[in-house]
Amino acid sequence: MLYDAFNRKHDYLRISITEACNMRCFYCMPDGNKISHIPNHWMNKDEIVEIAKLFVNEGVKKIRITGGEPLVRKDAGEIISALSKLPVELVLTTNGALLHKFIDVFDEVKIHTVNVSLDSLNKEKFFKITKTNTFDNVFENIQILSKKGFRVKVNMVVIKGVNEVEILDFVELTKDSPLEIRFIEFMPFSGNGWKNAQVYPAANILSDIGMKYKFAQIETEIHDTSKKYKIEGFKGNIGLINTITQPFCEGCNRLRLTADGKMKNCLFSKNETDLLSALRRGVDILPLIQQTVMSKHKERGGQFQKNGSEYDGDKIKNRTMIAIGG
Ligand code: SAM
Ligand code: SF4
Repeated sequence: MLYDAFNRKHDYLRISITEACNMRCFYCMPDGNKISHIPNHWMNKDEIVEIAKLFVNEGVKKIRITGGEPLVRKDAGEIISALSKLPVELVLTTNGALLHKFIDVFDEVKIHTVNVSLDSLNKEKFFKITKTNTFDNVFENIQILSKKGFRVKVNMVVIKGVNEVEILDFVELTKDSPLEIRFIEFMPFSGNGWKNAQVYPAANILSDIGMKYKFAQIETEIHDTSKKYKIEGFKGNIGLINTITQPFCEGCNRLRLTADGKMKNCLFSKNETDLLSALRRGVDILPLIQQTVMSKHKERGGQFQKNGSEYDGDKIKNRTMIAIGG
């Protein structure tokens, strides 16, 4: 079992399989990204499975495939299929543009839950955020997946001055469909120009929703990153991921593996452990995994020192989000 110094058990691994993406969301990929092949310094399919197996042997029960955009990787289907043979709950986060090509794969390997990112229901705004014209495609894929009985969670990063006015439109999507809409507070990563003033706090989201709807909180598990709510009479529900205003590190069970084989013990950790190079040298990497878990900070990578009453985004040292995987 993988316990840290605060006695938190870690049984959830997020594996990024690529840093490439077919979108260019400004808050995630600040510098653009032109990778079109699988570089040698990224894990190949067999290495991904070999490393994942070690985590599973240590008690990991859930694996999330992420990226960049995981479905742009040429061998994404093969990786999904290989990981599905491990005794874990396998889930995936995607921007949704290529989902229609993978529904059969998901069916075959029994992926039941898919997180799809969508930050605006307005085509022009969607274009401004993602620099792509794929809104119709993404929206249709969400409907298809939901109708086919997959559990679909829609991730919306709420950024003040960009899309907070659409919160109620997103809530409305849960009326007739069992979708879960997850409102995520905007977070700082290298180069994304994050400012406190752009965070639209969860408290404001709840107050906006309360002006129009009656809602009640739903029970969540200790490891859930989101607080969940349901509008009276609606089929779906709503989640709030309040990383900035109400961090949920106390129950954290998550570990991360980047596409280039570095292990991160926290989304905000500045330290990384190079598992892939060690694996390629024939070193036993289990002790490295255990030490990395043990060195996890109590809260948000130990990086969120307050500057006056606010956080200083420029002082936080990390990768860009696209190179972590969320
Ligand atoms: N390409 C896939 C997608 O968009 O869902 C998977 C990778 S993406 C890095 C994973 C999640 O991180 C997405 O839901 C995205 O919206 C979120 N994300 C990226 N940058 C973020 C930021 N600065 N603050 C909050 N969430 C962010
Ligand atoms: Fe690509 Fe997802 Fe990042 Fe947008 S959020 S740039 S879709 S990896």
